[in-house]
Amino acid sequence: MKPIILVVEDEAAIVTLLRYNLEKEGFEVLEAKDGEEGLTILAERPVDLVLLDWMLPFLSGIEVCRQIRRRPETRNVPIIILTARGEEGDRVRGLNAGADDYVPKPFSPAEIIARIRAVLRRARPAIADERLRVGDVEMDLAEFKVTRGSRPVALGPTEFRLLRFLMEHPGRVFSRDQLINAVWGHDAYVDERTVDVHIRRLRKALNGEGEDDLIRTVRAAGYALEATRNAA
Ligand code: CA
Repeated sequence: MKPIILVVEDEAAIVTLLRYNLEKEGFEVLEAKDGEEGLTILAERPVDLVLLDWMLPFLSGIEVCRQIRRRPETRNVPIIILTARGEEGDRVRGLNAGADDYVPKPFSPAEIIARIRAVLRRARPAIADERLRVGDVEMDLAEFKVTRGSRPVALGPTEFRLLRFLMEHPGRVFSRDQLINAVWGHDAYVDERTVDVHIRRLRKALNGEGEDDLIRTVRAAGYALEATRNAA
């Protein structure tokens, strides 16, 4: 799965530059011209990282950053703030609002891609590996095998994709809509109950007798995979 980068930026020339370079590096790019549009996309699509301009019409980048951090289904999405301002105080304000990194304009495409990769590596350490590991669950992507502890876990293709996606983003809460878009595809006609059915099957296969339930149901938000099960 290609990592998805959401670019929230009102300057078309910068969006074009970023899209060209990010796509060349194997990322999928989504665009929003202002903060509202960005928040709407985030509610629907499983975005891996947000490139967020500081100076936006209507909602400022800082306010958008705060709102992303307040919502359970977007709380852990990595954010890099782009800004024309170069002052140290702005950098601190950006990081305080919950941004993971801060890149002053003008930037070179190579620099921004290096920063994106660094932030993604921290957020998704498993992304480059052939094996995913969360807690005692291990997924072998080459052989399509899953084990929990030493026990093999038999999964159907949909449950496998669902678990893979959750394992690539441990701890992150995804809404049913985000899971549909990630696992079934953006154009698929799948209703939210279908997600619940597959989550139920995944739980049944993954959680053996006496084992913790690793999938957390977040009321009114969605689902997350936890390395260790906390009280929901
Ligand atoms: Ca701007």
